[in-house]
Order: sequence, then C-alpha cells, then structure tokens
Amino acid sequence: MKGNIIILSAPSGTGKTTILKRVMPELGPISFSISHTTRGPRAGEKNGSDYHFVSKDEFLRLKDQGDFLEWAEVHGNYYGTSVHSVLALQETGQDVVLDIDIQGARQVRQKLKQPYSIFIIPPSWEEQAKRLRGRGTDDDATIALRLSNAKKELGDVDFYDFVVVNDSIEEASEMFRAIILSLRAKGRRLANGQEIALL
Ligand code: ADP
Ligand code: 5GP
Repeated sequence: MKGNIIILSAPSGTGKTTILKRVMPELGPISFSISHTTRGPRAGEKNGSDYHFVSKDEFLRLKDQGDFLEWAEVHGNYYGTSVHSVLALQETGQDVVLDIDIQGARQVRQKLKQPYSIFIIPPSWEEQAKRLRGRGTDDDATIALRLSNAKKELGDVDFYDFVVVNDSIEEASEMFRAIILSLRAKGRRLANGQEIALL
C-alpha cells in the first residue's frame, strides 16, 4: 500500500525543521524527501542528508532533464524535489514529507492525486523574526528578505488542509504527529502504517 504524500510549508524560521526532527523518529514508516538546492550549506548541514547541495548549472541541467516533480526560486536560491525519489519512497509504503514552499506546493497539487498539506505558522511576526535571528545562520539582508516573503506566503494558507501554530514546540509537535496518524486512519492504515485487515 502506498504512503501519503504530505506537503509541509511554513515561513522561514517558523520551526518546521525543528518539528520534523523531533517527530519523525516517533512516526515509523515516514521519510523526508531530500531536496536539491543551490543555497550553500549552513553550519552543521550535511550534503545528502539535509539537502543535495548543487551548483546552479547542475540544478538547471536536472530541471531540463525533467528530474523535478516541482522546483522554485525561493529567497534568491533554486530548490527542487526529485520526482524519482519521492515516488520510490511512496511505493515502499512510507509517508513522504515534502518540505517545500508555497510555489512548489501549488505545482505538486496540480501533478499528484491527493497530496495532503500542512502549513505551520509562527505565533507572531515578532517571534518569527526573533527565531530567525536567534538561529544565527543568516545575515541581516537574508533575514530581511525571508521576513518580507513570509507575509506573502501566508496568503496561501487557505489552500492547505491543516494549519498548526508553532508557539509551544511540544504542542506543535504533538499536533503534527496527530495529523500524520489520522491521515493513516483515513487511508485505512494502522498507526504503524500497516494496512487494516477487515474482520
Ligand atoms: P524553519 O525550518 O521553519 O526555517 P527552524 O526549525 O530552523 O525553522 O527554527 C528556527 C529557529 O527557531 C531555531 O533556532 C529553532 O531552535 C527555533 N524554534 C523552533 N521552534 C520553536 C519554538 N516553538 N519556540 C522557540 N523557538 C523555536
Ligand atoms: P531553507 O533555505 O531555509 O532551508 O529553505 C527555504 C525555503 O525553501 C523553505 O520555505 C523551504 O520549505 C523551501 N524549500 C526547501 N526545499 C524545497 C524544494 O525542494 N522545493 C521548493 N519549492 N521549496 C523548497
């Protein structure tokens, strides 16, 4: 039985990566699609596990070859999702999380049947700015660009199935976990991802 495709979007600095890292190990058959990007790695990010870090030429070559399910320019860099790896993961019965922006989400909704989608929002713009600065990975210009894009991104919130506010990390993580488990139940699967055998 195929797993669910779950789009996950959030304004930069909201805490999407933090939630995923907390919750994914507890959710059994679920994986995260590793995107390609032309952005440089941040301290601690590893090629092939956080992203496939590629040059702009390599990215455009992959795009022209039709390797991407979706791709977009986000905050001045290119990002794309490999169609082959998403479909291969889904075939193994795992749920596949696509951490992509609103432009990518629109493309995936057009191309795939029934992707589910979750939008995470920060409790306030002040808190989002504080988190972006506190992360310490981006310079002031990058932070300003990401904050100004955040308000536009929020305009797509109504296209998403679920909205989670990341105020308390514990509550937001629990909400994310509950959504994944209820999508399995909706697809006639047990919480552990196995198909339900009817009595
Ligand atoms: P994103 O992946 O959405 O860009 P990150 O997961 O990198 O965001 O989180 C941005 C920063 O905010 C990190 O320093 C992280 O530790 C912090 N953070 C995440 N969630 C919370 C929360 N609920 N409360 C306080 N800080 C948080
Ligand atoms: P970051 O540079 O902070 O890791 O990611 C910036 C933004 O790019 C985030 O909104 C993230 O969801 C988005 N993103 C990451 N990978 C992809 C992808 O493969 N496709 C698209 N469209 N957006 C992506």
